[in-house]
Amino acid sequence: MGVKRCKFVFADTGNEHELTYEYVGHYLPTVLGANVDVVRAEFSRQIAAKRVYCETVWPEKGVPEKIVQRALRVLHPTGNPFLDLCLWKGRFPSRMAQFCTQHLKRIPLDRYLLDRIAEGFSVESWRGIRRDESLHRRNAPDRERVAEGYCIVHPIADLTSMEVVAAVRARGVELNPLYKLGMRRVGCMPCINCCKDELLEIWKRFPEYLAIKREWESLVCLASKRGWSTFFTDAARDGETEAELFDRLCIDGRVRWAQTARGGRQIDAFRLQAPPACSSVYGLCE
Ligand code: SF4
Repeated sequence: MGVKRCKFVFADTGNEHELTYEYVGHYLPTVLGANVDVVRAEFSRQIAAKRVYCETVWPEKGVPEKIVQRALRVLHPTGNPFLDLCLWKGRFPSRMAQFCTQHLKRIPLDRYLLDRIAEGFSVESWRGIRRDESLHRRNAPDRERVAEGYCIVHPIADLTSMEVVAAVRARGVELNPLYKLGMRRVGCMPCINCCKDELLEIWKRFPEYLAIKREWESLVCLASKRGWSTFFTDAARDGETEAELFDRLCIDGRVRWAQTARGGRQIDAFRLQAPPACSSVYGLCE
């Protein structure tokens, strides 16, 4: 299929790294010779409805007036899809409630596809999932018919990550530069599911992105009926108070944990060393 018959689309969550915006907005269009369309979710209607709900239903449920007023102070759309989604929900997504994928990626991308179908196109949606990524994806089909004129194709389902890297580079295309900077997967900066090593790498290289998440935490805490919510989540330990849990899971608590050795108690001096120029897990060093 030639590039002229393809449309490229990127779902901007509002929680992306600048290098990703640069890669999608400038590098890829140049190398592909085609534009990359951008879709962004928008939550002003939901936030307006949430304000009404807080004003009318929360008091009926016994929520104290000061908590209602606190939420109303911050329940205004900011224009950032990720933050607005969390303000609307009054919490951050988690592994168990990963609503970010649905609201920030699936729904906007489905709307984009439906618009193309409404324009009269038959759509083959190519998605870059791989079967060895997770148990959940192990049985992903090569091709799936969703409806008349709409099917989903997984062209790299059988490849390993290293085979994908080799295939892209063999065509003279560079990968997102974040892959050279220690990122195993390129998604949100950071993803709510990022692992300990990745979080440490982000703290060393891009602390400004964690500072933004700290600000988001303070806003979402105000919008939350419970009074707190953290960007990263984990189960409470036996006997742990809410204050202790917040201290452990908030951005600063997770960064402290990322600096520790296995076991999570002692700071590991080796882990605090400055990152090398290239720390690609895919061997992308020049
Ligand atoms: S990359 Fe992570 S944080 Fe971002 S939408 Fe996907 S699951 Fe959510």
